[in-house]
Amino acid sequence: MTTRIALIAHDKKKDDMIALAGEHLDFLRACSLTATGTTGSRLATELGLTVERKHSGPFGGDLQIGSLLVEGRIDCVIFLRDPMTPQPHEPDINALVRVCDVHNIPCATNVSSAHLVLSQLQWRAGQEAVAPL
Ligand code: PGA
Repeated sequence: MTTRIALIAHDKKKDDMIALAGEHLDFLRACSLTATGTTGSRLATELGLTVERKHSGPFGGDLQIGSLLVEGRIDCVIFLRDPMTPQPHEPDINALVRVCDVHNIPCATNVSSAHLVLSQLQWRAGQEAVAPL
């Protein structure tokens, strides 16, 4: 089954997101990707990824992704949060992280945990690909 990944990066973390996605590009190309608005457009423009774009985070994009997750349509969230800058949509951020915990969906909130999660998902996808019928 195609892995469905949500990608969100706050403004000061967007360069990190592009670098992270660039390191996992082959795997991400094989995934179904959803992102908040600006994060998604940068992933598409700079890396050529196909991304379903939601609204920008401050305009409800985190909540849209949370809604997909609650419906069972997201397998993993990569959410590069900026812990040093107050965000106007802090309640939405907390809501998304909360529903990840409620539904036991992996949520990587920094680059090193994101690498671990993406590597593990890629390994699992490879195992599925070679699993006997
Ligand atoms: P953006 O939204 O990808 O549209 O910037 C993310 C955020 O800032 O919450």
